[in-house]
Amino acid sequence: MATWTLIDMSITLKRILDVAKILSSGSIFRELCEFKSKLNSCIKSMQESSRARTQKVCILLYHSIGFNKRYSTVKPSEFYRQMDYLRKNYEIVSLDKIIKFINGKIDLDKAVAITFDDGYYDNYVYAFPYFKKYRLPATIFITTGISEKFQNKKLFEGIILKKLGNNEIKKMSIYIDFGAHTKTHPFLDKISLKEAQKEIYDSKYKIEKIINKKIKYFAYPFFKYNNKIINLIKTLGFKAALNGPGLVRKGDNPFILKRVVITSSTNFFLFKINLTEYYEWKINLKKFLLRS
Ligand SMILES: [Zn+2]
Repeated sequence: MATWTLIDMSITLKRILDVAKILSSGSIFRELCEFKSKLNSCIKSMQESSRARTQKVCILLYHSIGFNKRYSTVKPSEFYRQMDYLRKNYEIVSLDKIIKFINGKIDLDKAVAITFDDGYYDNYVYAFPYFKKYRLPATIFITTGISEKFQNKKLFEGIILKKLGNNEIKKMSIYIDFGAHTKTHPFLDKISLKEAQKEIYDSKYKIEKIINKKIKYFAYPFFKYNNKIINLIKTLGFKAALNGPGLVRKGDNPFILKRVVITSSTNFFLFKINLTEYYEWKINLKKFLLRS
């Protein structure tokens, strides 16, 4: 539609120029009016098609909510401020709705889904009561094989955090969703396919047993995957897999869903603009600077 109108516009412009040569002609005014109206309809159709292309939603990624000094940890007061802002200004949706959106089944405007990775006990203490109170959807991705005793100090800035127990998971599963995040949080692209299968399957199986429900979603540890891992995820019956960082658009691959990563360095101003395209510009700029 937009392409046709542009061609039409250029023809009209040529005609106006032709007419302009004959200034005595009284038709120039009529030609200009016609041109103006075609220009307006062209701009309108371009805006509409651009809006359809750029319709996007966010999946937020949190880890720990608490007072520890890990970089990825968000303080409870900051978390509640962010959630209050979302409740007032956005629609907080489930991952099921996000999948319908990317498959083109529904439209979403200013929508956000909330996820937590790793499965820390503080999610139960600080985040869960909020989601329960306001009946909001959220998904927690659990690493099932790592208790606080076996967390890798090197990877987690020397800070060991309590993990969710079966009882908390069970209690929360009435209100919120759970997803798999492997057994021991490995770099999936660095281990054998057989090991990867065991890592993914074991976590899925264990969570399903605790909550007595099928697990639909998976989150890649360290955002690492390859085509073989994606095929494995599909074979194991997952509906989608989450990664990061970025925004989600219609038609995106459901097995590489991007997320907006919220950390201790995300102040309230940054939080608000991270929900927009600015977040992608920032990520792309970072990638560009690291390459050069
Ligand atoms: Zn993780």
